[in-house]
Amino acid sequence: MKMMRPHSLPILLGLLLLAQSWGFPVFNKATNSRWNPSLYVASKEAPETSSETTIQLNPLLSSVKMSKTVEVMALVKQLQADGVEVTSLSVGEPDFLPPPAVLEATHKAVTDGELRYTAVTGTLALRQAIAADLERRKGVSYDPLTEIVVGNGAKQSVYQGVLAVCGLGDQVLIPAPYWPSYPEMVALAGAKAVIVDASVETGFLLTPDQLRTTLEANPKIKLFMLCNPSNPTGGVYSRAELEGLAEVLRDYPHVAILADEIYERLVYPPTDGDIPKEDWCPSFASLPGMFDRTMTINGMSKAYAMTGYRLGYVAAPARLAKAVTTLQSQITSCAGSLSQAAGVAALTQVPDEVLEENVQIMQRKRDYVLDELAKMPYVNLPAPPRGAFYVLPDVSKAPIYNGDDTEFCLDLLKQERLALVPGSSFGAPGCIRISYATSLEELQVAMEKLNRFLTNLG
Ligand code: PMP
Repeated sequence: MKMMRPHSLPILLGLLLLAQSWGFPVFNKATNSRWNPSLYVASKEAPETSSETTIQLNPLLSSVKMSKTVEVMALVKQLQADGVEVTSLSVGEPDFLPPPAVLEATHKAVTDGELRYTAVTGTLALRQAIAADLERRKGVSYDPLTEIVVGNGAKQSVYQGVLAVCGLGDQVLIPAPYWPSYPEMVALAGAKAVIVDASVETGFLLTPDQLRTTLEANPKIKLFMLCNPSNPTGGVYSRAELEGLAEVLRDYPHVAILADEIYERLVYPPTDGDIPKEDWCPSFASLPGMFDRTMTINGMSKAYAMTGYRLGYVAAPARLAKAVTTLQSQITSCAGSLSQAAGVAALTQVPDEVLEENVQIMQRKRDYVLDELAKMPYVNLPAPPRGAFYVLPDVSKAPIYNGDDTEFCLDLLKQERLALVPGSSFGAPGCIRISYATSLEELQVAMEKLNRFLTNLG
């Protein structure tokens, strides 16, 4: 491959596409599965051993999967680069630009020469802005000097949070459907995920009874990973629902909580009852007795559409924050200085009303998608998602597929050029995950495509 001229790669890919009668799916002999989009995007396959060296890869890799969302995204980008028109509702990324104040702060940071390493935990200005934001909106008080660690995206912050608590042989409770990176990060820590299915009847929320039964049966569980609002279900735990979980956790003081609240600014008004706004989606750390054992994850990617800035953070009591800092100091030194300057602007200069307007726009998109899905055959809709920008309909009744959501998504991509992510990668077999954080026009095209695909199934 290294001797190839730059333009040879697209030609090779083109031939590959031609060689596969339809371009895709590509048959993957190794796993006997047709899901192998990496053939389109990787310039070389990665065999476990090489004929030229005796290097063995880390055996942990055999228990870790590539992120399917990232794979689908890469596949879509490759197909688009090859001139194929693809509609994609596969990525959890807002379609709008970051607010102007953020863009201006980015430029200013360049001209001001903010181009050096920062403190491992982030600039003091950003940590102060984060602490003030959490105090003002969530009523939790963190010391910016010792209790906030800024990282390169919430994903890294989650991983460091897992590593700070879990090691070989430990167990981690993860409610399903889950964000796919959770079990993989747990596996990378040498720990084992204990997956508990949250049912569609409870809006995909874990019940206190389920939590107690699982903790009782698995004394090695050291960490509980709670995504609120949830990717992929859009489920949101209200204060009363979180209180139910906290009550159980008080009986298990050895269990830490990783509260992934990256979508907490994207919550829709509840339709049931008169819940005050501060109780729609409170921070888990704000519940009585929970501060000392909770690592709160948040970041700028979703609320401020700053996905490419790679800016996230852990807020945690000093002992846990210090453990995360130690790990980060060896893994990455610090988050990007320009991103951090932009993060300060996001938290201090963007008025709440701007974000609230985005939530209203997102809610209209959610409602449109739900209305359209309700008209389609074989689609079983869960209760309307109360937050984030995902919906996870069940299509297991669709003929031909017998609940195989991967085959379903591959054929959808092949026949209609519509990219969705199979539910099984989120621990939700038979479902498909739709991200509606895109333009209304694109959503309309996508819904037409999905409807046609389902209707043609007979
Ligand atoms: N947690 C959840 C639940 C997410 O969905 C994502 C992004 N898809 C992240 C964390 C990571 O966000 P970031 O882009 O800040 O790394």
